[in-house]
Amino acid sequence: MKSLKSNLIVLGSVGLLFLVACNKGDQANDTNTSPASSPVASQPASSAPATAPATATQGGQVVKSGAYHLEFVTEKEATGTHLDLYLQKGDKKEPVPNAKVTAQVQLPNGKQQTLALKYDAEGKHYAVVFPGKDAGSYPVKVTADINGEKVDGRFTFNQ
Ligand SMILES: [Zn+2]
Repeated sequence: MKSLKSNLIVLGSVGLLFLVACNKGDQANDTNTSPASSPVASQPASSAPATAPATATQGGQVVKSGAYHLEFVTEKEATGTHLDLYLQKGDKKEPVPNAKVTAQVQLPNGKQQTLALKYDAEGKHYAVVFPGKDAGSYPVKVTADINGEKVDGRFTFNQ
């Protein structure tokens, strides 16, 4: 009679969850500088699966114009700044897909650059990448032409 003991080695497969996402603190400020070594809080892995890997700033600047709701969100990219415009109508905030949207960006040197935003059906917003890298504050005038009805909003982004 041989008793074969099988040793089950259970690896506590908890692993290390590095919650890198900077979801603490306000996102209004530039979060693109040094991710200063924050005191590592050894939280036991919470149930929330941190999905999105550091989706940058959401919650943009909002302008209401008549029945329309314009929300401007920017995101820094390697080649410039990604500009998003959410154009929505009414209290239900229904996306408006058929507008001609342009952004008139005021450059630090005083010149203006006009960009046409394309509708992203999946994301339900208009987007374009502003190809500039000079640091500064960029005022933007966004104009949406919705079947001849013009709506605009003024925003600013920094890079
Ligand atoms: Zn976008």
